[in-house]
Amino acid sequence: MATESNDIRNAVLLRCAEAQEKIRAACAACGRDPAGVTLMAVTKTVDPVLVNTAVSAGIRVLGENRVQEYLSKRDAYDPAAEVQFIGHLQTNKVRQIVGSVTLIHSVDSLHLAEAVEKAAAAKQIVQPVLLEVNAAGEATKSGADPRFLPDLLRQVMAMPHLEVKGLMTIPPPVAHESEADAMFAQIAALHQKLQQIAPLPVLSMGMSGDYTSAVRHGSTMVRLGSALFGPRIYPQKGI
Ligand SMILES: *Cc1c(COP(=O)(O)O)cnc(C)c1O
Repeated sequence: MATESNDIRNAVLLRCAEAQEKIRAACAACGRDPAGVTLMAVTKTVDPVLVNTAVSAGIRVLGENRVQEYLSKRDAYDPAAEVQFIGHLQTNKVRQIVGSVTLIHSVDSLHLAEAVEKAAAAKQIVQPVLLEVNAAGEATKSGADPRFLPDLLRQVMAMPHLEVKGLMTIPPPVAHESEADAMFAQIAALHQKLQQIAPLPVLSMGMSGDYTSAVRHGSTMVRLGSALFGPRIYPQKGI
């Protein structure tokens, strides 16, 4: 048993090193400084022991999707890493997240922004956030319509307890890499355009299947789950 879990930990260490190397290579290929790309470990379904293995490999940002799962695991995480929230956030769970994570990636409506503002004001803090943009029109359910983003950005910037750091996007799974490329190019252009309204240093895009392409298009943060931890095993309902 002990040997088996050592094997699993070693596999995670190897995958972390491989992802770090691929990011370096993608940066080298397009003349970017690898220091400008943060590698986030996405922890959903992953045992905290393995999350901490990724931290020991030098990964310093953890991404959480589900409020309950995060609350049950956070005490076990290595405090060397900071935790960010990347999942869909329901307004009734906002209070449990605001002030407890260093960045919320998933603000995609005025309604949600107002709930985060209210919770941050109550805690007398400023909560850094990203605006989540829907890269694919109706094909995905989360994210703001790109057409509404300039207005949403201005409205959120006016909220005293929110600090907008940039954009996040989750493209739908695509059949060809060229489709992901086109979507990343589109979001990168939107990111550029919005910089006329405010400085937006963060562009959170790229997951296990497409992160090298995202880096080529200017991503500053890639969110990797299965590339680091292997395929996710979801607990079966009713057991
Ligand atoms: C699960 C998830 C990821 C990571 O997905 P992989 O394909 O396993 O890398 C990244 N971002 C978000 C928002 C996710 O929910």
